[in-house]
Formats: sequence, C-alpha cells, structure tokens
Amino acid sequence: MKIDLHAHSNVSDGTQTPADVVASAADAGIDAIALTDHDSTDGWAEASQAAREYGVVLVPGMEISCRTAEGISVHLLSYLHDPEHPGLLEEITKAKDARYTRAERMVSLLAEDYPLTWDDVIHHVAPGATLGRPHIADALVAAGVVEDRTEAFSTILTSRSRYYVQHYAPDPALAVELVRAAGGVPVFAHPVASARGRIVGEPIYREMIDAGLAGLEVYHRDNPEEGREFLRGLAKKHGLFVTGSSDYHGAGKPNLLGENVTSPEVLARIEDMGTGSAVVR
Ligand code: AMP
Ligand code: FE
Ligand code: FE
Ligand code: ZN
Repeated sequence: MKIDLHAHSNVSDGTQTPADVVASAADAGIDAIALTDHDSTDGWAEASQAAREYGVVLVPGMEISCRTAEGISVHLLSYLHDPEHPGLLEEITKAKDARYTRAERMVSLLAEDYPLTWDDVIHHVAPGATLGRPHIADALVAAGVVEDRTEAFSTILTSRSRYYVQHYAPDPALAVELVRAAGGVPVFAHPVASARGRIVGEPIYREMIDAGLAGLEVYHRDNPEEGREFLRGLAKKHGLFVTGSSDYHGAGKPNLLGENVTSPEVLARIEDMGTGSAVVR
C-alpha cells in the first residue's frame, strides 16, 4: 500500500487540476492520496469523482496556514473535517481574503524593482484559488527574473526578503481546536522545516497537543534528520501518530508523489477519528 497524505492542486498553489492530481497519483502507483490545498476544500468534489474513476482512495484534506503570537509560521493539515463547519470556514475565509491584500502589497513592493504587474500574477491563478507566493513566483519566472519557483523562494520571495508581507493566519492551537470541532483530524505539517523560516519550540507543541493535535508529519523532505528524532520522541511521549508525505505541487516543486508514505495503520486511525467527511473509495 502506497499512501501519500499531502498534495496540492491549482485550487491553491499546485499546477494541476484536482482531477489531474488524482490521475498522476494513479500513474505513480499510489493507492491512497489526500488532496490538501491551502485554506480551501474547493477541489474535493472534482477529486472525489476522479478517485472513483481511477480506483484511487481519496482522503479529503486541507492545509491551514497558521501563525504563532511570536510570528512563527505553522502549517496544519486537516483530514476528513466538515467543510461547512462555520467556525473553521470563517477562519480560512478570513485568511484567504487576507492573502489577496497581502499579495497586492508584495506585488507593489516588487514592482519598484522588477517588471511585474498584478495582472501578471493573476494570470497564474485559477479562478477562486487560494493565492500564494508561488503564483507571484510564476509571474517572476514568466518575466524572466528567476528560473523557477525554487529560485524565487531562495531569493526574493523568502520570508526574510524585504518584499515579504504577512497575511492574517489563525493561531495554531485555535486551528487545531476548530479542526477537531469540525470532526477533522489535525496533523502538524513539516514541523521542523527550518529552511522555510523559524520553527516552533516545545511550548507550542504542548498548546497544540492540549487542543487535540493527532499527528506529526515526520517524513517530509523539508524536515532535517536531527529534527525527525525529536519528532519521533514527541509522538511517542504524547501518543501522536506519525505520517509521511510528498507535499506534491505538480510542476511547482521537485517533490514527487509517493516520495514519502504513511502506513495503512495510521490511515485507519485517521479514518476512525475523522467524522466530518468520509474517505472516498
Ligand atoms: P504563502 O502561503 O503564500 O506564504 O507561500 C508559501 C507556499 O509556497 C508554501 O505552501 C509552499 O508550498 C510554497 N513554497 C515554499 N517554498 C517553496 C520552494 N522553495 N519552491 C516552491 N514552492 C515553495
Ligand atoms: Fe504550497
Ligand atoms: Fe506546508
Ligand atoms: Zn503543503
């Protein structure tokens, strides 16, 4: 069984439609795939239909961008939550809207130094999609400023760049609480991905665990080996399960479907715990 619980479509910053993500998963020999677009569940219906067509198991999911009071970015995966839960929906809608204002500000800063317009960015965003820095990166690639998204993120789009602007994002413990309230299963995504920016210390894990955190995404290419040992220890101590996933973004990232996988036992635990929506098979 090959189970990959973290993938993005063009409903957020992936480059393929939800149906094409599922088709690619089938091609890659994946048995179960989770669609986890940033702050959106808009791809679930299309992915579900494709999953039945291709005989792939679909785990409906989402990845919520959060920020601690200290200003550290945390990504929270949610599986099988109720997409209509008012409290959760309100938070992600607020964040999605704030992403537009934030991108406009980043684009106006970038436009002082680079040939970039708002229209250039919007050209790379599917209608209604969650807007992110990857779309700005795509416009910079098209303008010939950088070679690819990877170069954009290692230079002008890093969180340490002078063009970087924050957007509203819920506190991670609040997000965990809302996911649980919506019947979902909250999993801390790439928790020790230090190359992306600052990472959180034990007190934040404690707050998230107290709020109902269920798992840790240990096996992810952005987690360095030293951090994984720490995560495995934490999982053991607090009875959290451990996942492994690709964080596939189509052509937007080098991450390949199935490059990290999750055990069938853990998928069964997620399915038992998630009551807000159902696995599609
Ligand atoms: P944002 O949520 O708009 O701040 O942008 C963050 C998103 O950019 C993350 O969800 C990643 O998927 C993506 N990202 C981060 N680093 C890279 C990278 N090096 N190459 C491509 N995409 C990246
Ligand atoms: Fe992304
Ligand atoms: Fe993430
Ligand atoms: Zn992701």
